[in-house]
Amino acid sequence: MGCQGLSFLTALAREDYSEDTLSEALTARGEAQQRLFAMARQQRLACFPRNDAQVRSVIEVSNVCRQKCRYCAIGGKDQALNYTLSADIMFRLISHLVENGRKTVLLQSGENVNDTFISDVTEAVARAKARYPFLRIILCLGNLQREQYSDLHDAGASDYILKFETSNASLFSYCKPNDTLANRLSCIETLHDVGFNIGSGNIVGLPRQTLSDLVQDLLLAHELPLAMNSTTIFIPAENSEFANEPSGDANLTLNMMALLRIMNPHRYMPTTSSLEKMIPDGQYLGLMAGANTVTVHDGTPPELEKHFPIYSSKRIRPQTDHFRDILARAGMTTDNAL
Ligand code: SF4
Repeated sequence: MGCQGLSFLTALAREDYSEDTLSEALTARGEAQQRLFAMARQQRLACFPRNDAQVRSVIEVSNVCRQKCRYCAIGGKDQALNYTLSADIMFRLISHLVENGRKTVLLQSGENVNDTFISDVTEAVARAKARYPFLRIILCLGNLQREQYSDLHDAGASDYILKFETSNASLFSYCKPNDTLANRLSCIETLHDVGFNIGSGNIVGLPRQTLSDLVQDLLLAHELPLAMNSTTIFIPAENSEFANEPSGDANLTLNMMALLRIMNPHRYMPTTSSLEKMIPDGQYLGLMAGANTVTVHDGTPPELEKHFPIYSSKRIRPQTDHFRDILARAGMTTDNAL
């Protein structure tokens, strides 16, 4: 590999995030790609000197959703069961995780804007924070009203994940026909006003997406006031409208992760279960590309898991043994028990 093939590394080191630099970095392979990953790990270590990953458990609290994203199987006509956990069950599930050592819990649902549901989440959050003041509660509940965000924040939830999915407004509308990018970004702004730490990110490999779209995704993620960022590889979910589309490219996804780390070194970034599904050792490779968050799928009652097919009905639901192994191989520790 000649010097020219590595020139984007020099550009990144001086924070040159031009479109040419980012395109070159996204398409780097072989030695150049390995150098990109090494740079991402170096940046992570500079900002997280203990080299520890954040460990969180997810509870999928409802699969009711008013959206009909073309890449998702939730809410489709074939959905066998609509479920919504009560405040009491949510609280008991959270308590069980915390009593077993977890310090961060993610409550995720479809976009269920029903007031009773949001009040139930608010109540569960308030009860959990009263019992476990140290607990960090992350929410991922979709677009809500400002008052609902405020109530959830006042109850003690500190973090909220709302992905922009793609920075291309027409691609966004094509994939999410009931929503707009402008509306999504306005919700992110409201979350910021309300005081949440925000997580956001994109999907790599959406139908019609171009390399230039991914460059713009990187620039948008950099510009937004985020504490966490992520990138997910597109997987054609069975029973979704995109079921017959090709999957996203794993190398592009890993390079996207490395660039998110390099451009935003202080942020948390997950290594996703979709990556593990797409390529052997995918989540380990995600850690080697700069990720520092792992999500343990030990919070949702087992009988409900199959009713939350967000990217596939055959989702991978990684457990603690898997993370112990990949974190040890990546030379990383954890911020709480695994
Ligand atoms: S991706 Fe989220 S918002 Fe879209 S249909 Fe699936 S659950 Fe609903």
